[in-house]
Amino acid sequence: MPGPVVLSTGAPAPPAFAGTPAAVAAGASQRRAAPPDPSMQEWRGFPAGAAEEPAAGSGAARLAAWAAPLCLSGAELVPPLPPHLQPPESRGLPPAPQRPLPQPGGGDPQFNVAKCAEERSCDNPACVFWHSVAERRCQQFACGSCAAVSRGRCIGGLHVRPEDIREVLTVDLEDTVGVQDELRRLEAASPDERARYVRLVLYGFAGLRMGLLRKLLEQLPLLHELALPDRAREPSLLVFLCDLVEGLGTTTPRLRDVIFQDEQCESLW
Ligand SMILES: [Zn+2]
Ligand SMILES: [Zn+2]
Repeated sequence: MPGPVVLSTGAPAPPAFAGTPAAVAAGASQRRAAPPDPSMQEWRGFPAGAAEEPAAGSGAARLAAWAAPLCLSGAELVPPLPPHLQPPESRGLPPAPQRPLPQPGGGDPQFNVAKCAEERSCDNPACVFWHSVAERRCQQFACGSCAAVSRGRCIGGLHVRPEDIREVLTVDLEDTVGVQDELRRLEAASPDERARYVRLVLYGFAGLRMGLLRKLLEQLPLLHELALPDRAREPSLLVFLCDLVEGLGTTTPRLRDVIFQDEQCESLW
């Protein structure tokens, strides 16, 4: 252990540590508690000016080089999030929309329990009836409890409370690996878990990755909104999105609105 050796040779004080004051104090007390080595010179205290930068090649400089990898701050002890899970702002992307989230069913506890008479031709955004089996909620669950769950799903429909449909999923289509990870995670999740997502915040939107985006959207049965914080509203983009959403009537029947960079909301149908 080179730590105690440096102090007992009378070399300048150890350099400032990158760690927390507590960690530095702990390190210092460890050094003081080390047993004396009779082969070393007697400790005569710090020389004048010892608090200054250690001279290159001195014992303290060597200690600094040796100890640097061991001195972790509190932040460094926590493993960093994968890039696609870090906040958009920290990756230089525009912030996600601040608009309030939609409230599926508007507080109706019987939301999506009964079938809509107009089915797919229904154009009422506030309709409280279901339009495809993917978004149907279990009536037993809505009325209190249901024990018919088998293999993570209930044949009667989704087990999700309307007030729990408020999750936001954020993906960056430029990060293909991150999107594929997210897709795998969703495919492994139960329909009830996937039904909690109400808004998808999408960066790097481009026609090239349409297949990947479509697969992602198909996993989100109660998604209501698509937000594109790095895209300005333009007619050709709207036409593109209308085509995309039209093909999702079975899997994602509630997806109707798109929010652009200016936070304005546009209805796709
Ligand atoms: Zn309807
Ligand atoms: Zn059920």
